[in-house]
Amino acid sequence: MESLSVDLKSRFADVEYNYKTIKENISNAAVKCGRNPDDIIFLSAVKTVPPQLINYAAELGLKHIGENKVQELLQKYDDYALDKLDLQFIGHLQTNKVRQIVDKVSMIQSVDSFHLAEEISKRSMAINKIMPVLIEVNIGQETSKSGVFIENIYEVIDQIRGLSNIKIKGIMSIPPIFDNNEEKMKIFNKMYNLFIDISQKKLDNVNMEILSMGMSDDYMEAIQSGSNLVRIGSALFGKRIYK
Ligand SMILES: *Cc1c(COP(=O)(O)O)cnc(C)c1O
Repeated sequence: MESLSVDLKSRFADVEYNYKTIKENISNAAVKCGRNPDDIIFLSAVKTVPPQLINYAAELGLKHIGENKVQELLQKYDDYALDKLDLQFIGHLQTNKVRQIVDKVSMIQSVDSFHLAEEISKRSMAINKIMPVLIEVNIGQETSKSGVFIENIYEVIDQIRGLSNIKIKGIMSIPPIFDNNEEKMKIFNKMYNLFIDISQKKLDNVNMEILSMGMSDDYMEAIQSGSNLVRIGSALFGKRIYK
């Protein structure tokens, strides 16, 4: 602790309080809709968060983290407490950077094209790994965002599930920002219905285990709509400080 800046020290207490609050909220949201809190994966989106603070959260019990930039992941990689933490990739991934992370992450949540999946499969094969992936869905049909449109989802899944070193484990989405809750719930339900629809097709090499949706502002609603993996950043670590 000696070497930590005063600034960082002051964030530890907040993280502890926030962690407990989020765990309670997740638990309450799950119980409220008759689900087991243990079935909900609490992953923290850790962009801009220094490893010392991430590792402090790991001491408190945090088990899953997600980075969304390759460069940042590589810079922080040696400092994560990886004996306690499972590291995933959750951001937009460029094909030419896949090679740098395939050996470092347990899942890639943001597969949005066959082309990217092909590269992940190829690079995973080279290190004898089967990479679990989620298909990112552009649920709000926003041209500014990545992710597969619903109308193309089955075509993309059919292509990707044929790859040898990839296992499709579910879907993820970063929904549009809404100012009204009703619109947001509609989008969450649309994701849930899609999740169920794909599950029921029982496709080979597709194990629909994970519905990744819900962030700091809406993870409780997301859980009530069927999410079983929430990605929480600022509610745990505070407002992001971009340098
Ligand atoms: C940053 C980020 C989050 C978390 O955002 P918050 O609103 O801070 O909780 C979740 N998912 C992805 C992909 C992110 O990049």
